[in-house]
Amino acid sequence: MKLTADIIAIGSELLTPHRTDTNSLWLTERLNSIGIEVMQKTIVGDDEQRLEHAIRDSLRRSDLIISTGGLGPTEDDVTRKVFARVLGRQLTLDYDVLETIRERFASRGYQMAPNNERQALVPAGATVLPNQNGSAPGLTISHESKFIVLLPGPPREMRPMFEDQIMGELENRSRGTRIARRTLKVTGLGESALDELIAPIYGQYSNPQTTILFTNCEIEVHLTATADNLSIAERLLNELSEKLKGKVGDYIYSTAGESIEEVVGRGLAEKGHTIATAESCTGGLIAERITEVPGASRYFLGGVVSYTEDVKTKLLGVPQEMIERRGVVSGEVAEAMARGIKESTGATIGLSVTGIAGPGGGTVAVPVGSVYIGLSDDLVTSNRRLMLMGDRQLIRWRTSQAALDMIRRRYLG
Ligand code: AMP
Ligand code: MG
Repeated sequence: MKLTADIIAIGSELLTPHRTDTNSLWLTERLNSIGIEVMQKTIVGDDEQRLEHAIRDSLRRSDLIISTGGLGPTEDDVTRKVFARVLGRQLTLDYDVLETIRERFASRGYQMAPNNERQALVPAGATVLPNQNGSAPGLTISHESKFIVLLPGPPREMRPMFEDQIMGELENRSRGTRIARRTLKVTGLGESALDELIAPIYGQYSNPQTTILFTNCEIEVHLTATADNLSIAERLLNELSEKLKGKVGDYIYSTAGESIEEVVGRGLAEKGHTIATAESCTGGLIAERITEVPGASRYFLGGVVSYTEDVKTKLLGVPQEMIERRGVVSGEVAEAMARGIKESTGATIGLSVTGIAGPGGGTVAVPVGSVYIGLSDDLVTSNRRLMLMGDRQLIRWRTSQAALDMIRRRYLG
C-alpha cells in the first residue's frame, strides 16, 4: 500500500542557528527507500501548544507520524505528554520500563534521579521500544488508521532504534510501493529557458514528479517515480528522462549524479587526452576543480596562474606586442595562452582564461564580466568570448564552469 509520512522534529535548539535537524533527512532517506513519501516535515520547539498543533495537523495529512526528540527526563521534554493528550490516552507509569531504566543507571554505578521516572510514562495502548544506546525508550501507537512513532532526539539513539525496531514493520505496511529517483544535470541554459523547454513535457506526468533546482550555474531536474516495484519505477523514469533528453539535448551533462568535473575527467581519460591550464582571472579555480576528482593525474598535467602580463609573456610565450595591440583581455591573447601552455607541457589540450572578474578594471570596450576562453589542440586553436553577470566570485565560478563545459562539448561529445 502507498503510505505517506509526516516527520515532526521536536526541540527548541533546532530553531536556533546552532543545531540542525538532521534526523528528518536521515528518516526521509530510510522511508523513501521503502516507498514511503514524506508529505511534510515540521520543526517545533519544546512548547506544548505548538506541538499539539503540529500533531493535529500531521494526523489530518499522513498515514504515519514520526517524531524525534523531547523524550528526555526534564521538564521541557513534553513529547509523551502532548501526544497522549492529543490522542486521548492516559499516561501511566510502566514499572517494567522503570526497572529497565533503573538497571541501566545501576549498571554504570549511578542511582537514577527521580526525574528519570518520567521516561517510564507510557500512553495507554502504546508499545515500548527499548533504547540500547540511551535511557529514553521510544514508543509506537496505533491510532485509528494512523501509525505513530516517537523516537529519541540524539541520532545515535534514534537511528538504531528506527532501523532495528521500526523499518521491518513499515516495510510490511508499505509492501508493493517503491520510489526511484533520477537527477538530470544541466549546464549552459538559464532556469527559465530550460523550464520553457521542458514544462510542456513534464507537465503531462504526475508520476514521475518533477522538481527543478537552481544552483550557482547548474540546474538539476529531479525526477521521482513511485510504482509497485523498482523496475516499473525505473521504467517510468526512463520514459520521461528520454523525452526530456530529446528536448534538452547535450545541455544535459549527467543523469547519473556526477559533477561536471567528473564527467569531463572520465571523458578525457577515456579518449586518452591530457590537459593543461593557463588561468588569469580564475586564479587556478579551473585546475582546482579538475583536480578535485580522484585520479585526475591520468589526464591533468598541470597549470600556470598567469595573473600578470609578465607571466603571460615569460611563462606562456604570449608576445608582448600582441598584448599591447589587442589588450590582455582578448581572444588573441587567450589563444596564445592556450597554445603556450599546451606546448610547454606537451598536453593534447591547452585551456586558457583571461577576463575581468571585477569589481574594478572594466572599460567601455571590455566591461567587467568579459571573459575569453582559449582552447588549443593539435589541429586548431580557438577562443570564445563570454559576457558574464554577477559579482567577482560568481564571474570566476561561471568562467570555470563554461571552460569545463567547452571541453566537454568540444572533445567528449
Ligand atoms: P532530546 O531527545 O530532545 O532530549 O534530544 C537530545 C539531543 O538530541 C539534542 O540536544 C540534540 O543534540 C539531538 N537532537 C534532537 N533532535 C534532533 C534532530 N532533529 N536532529 C539532530 N539532532 C537532534
Ligand atoms: Mg530536547
